[in-house]
Amino acid sequence: MAFIVQKFGGSSVADAERIRRVAGIIADTYIEGNDVVAVLSAQGDTTDDLIAKAHELNPNPSKREMDMLISTGEQISIALMAMALEKMGLPVVSLTGWQIGLSTNTQYGNARINRVGHERIMTELGHRRIVIVAGFQGKNKYDDITTLGRGGSDTTAVAIAAALHADLCQIYTDVEGIYTCDPRKVPGAKKLDEITYDEMLELASMGAQVLHNRSVEMAKRYGVNLEVLSSFVRKPGTKVKEVCKVEQRSISGVAKDTNVSRIALINVKDEPGVAFKVFRMLSKEKIVVDIILQSIGREKVKDISFTVAQTDRPRAEELLMSMKDAIGFESISVSDNVAKVSIVGAGMMSQYGVAATMFEALYDAKVNINMISTSEIKISVLVDEDEADRAVAAIHKKFFE
Ligand code: ASP
Ligand code: MG
Repeated sequence: MAFIVQKFGGSSVADAERIRRVAGIIADTYIEGNDVVAVLSAQGDTTDDLIAKAHELNPNPSKREMDMLISTGEQISIALMAMALEKMGLPVVSLTGWQIGLSTNTQYGNARINRVGHERIMTELGHRRIVIVAGFQGKNKYDDITTLGRGGSDTTAVAIAAALHADLCQIYTDVEGIYTCDPRKVPGAKKLDEITYDEMLELASMGAQVLHNRSVEMAKRYGVNLEVLSSFVRKPGTKVKEVCKVEQRSISGVAKDTNVSRIALINVKDEPGVAFKVFRMLSKEKIVVDIILQSIGREKVKDISFTVAQTDRPRAEELLMSMKDAIGFESISVSDNVAKVSIVGAGMMSQYGVAATMFEALYDAKVNINMISTSEIKISVLVDEDEADRAVAAIHKKFFE
């Protein structure tokens, strides 16, 4: 017997038939003798629909009222799921965020979890009931409802698993696990049996979109055993953990991020403090800079190029232009037509030739590299956006086929 937290995403509970199927998974886990807490998202596009409804009345509603509204989607899901399980003759109770004592800070719309209460959930489990919990929501010190940010139900599940020392936290979704590449775009994409927390964090922040980043950070911090698996096919998924048997594999995945822009400052004065001025100004404005490249000086000038999120590019450009003389550069050149392609793998720390293999794949595909950056477990290159898919396919083929 084990204590298992299971989380089901919006597509897994989208309609009555899918709710019944998920109820079957929960019931089987319970009947095997396990304690089960199931965390649910809102059905299908419910959260988006609620946001649209709000904007019909007020394009700029207060964040408090927004949370009051968008937290309701999850409440619908848990009541329906409990009813489906009741129908199967099983003891079950649905609980909202505040009923389980999930308290957060006061940042409406993107609240951080402070604490998860033990009493209510443990009492219900003690009575051998299945517990169904509304994801994404909590309560702050004013007794107001807060939400955890889009995709936040994953974080609710991991927080419960961490606080109550569950044996396993399963995240059920509409894909069979974590893949070496986006399986909808790259036909040869392979499902991974396991992946480390650090690799998962790199892949998530690069837009792999399987798990809420904060849920992975929290799982790593508290050593929660995570598994990502499908609610449609009953097969083992991908285990996310601290260390994996990665000896045989140098990289775990290839990812692409198109929300990237490149900014180049041309003919910057070649003197101390220039980079400091540029990047301090951007950091004050909370603009995250990713890849940075500086050319060597020639005739007292140099170029500094870097990437920012495409959504931050207009503001970054405007700020830099307003400081043109203070910083001391001649002109600025920007491009939104770039994409970042990365390989991630804990195995690359102890292997040589990984970068060379990646660059060879790009050379074979005749894709030009604009910038390169590396970390212990990641190598990223900046390429032209219209060549990015070709780059991903070529790199994936080189490493995995
Ligand atoms: N329903 C929320 C959203 O759509 C939370 C979640 O699904 O995890 O973002
Ligand atoms: Mg999600």
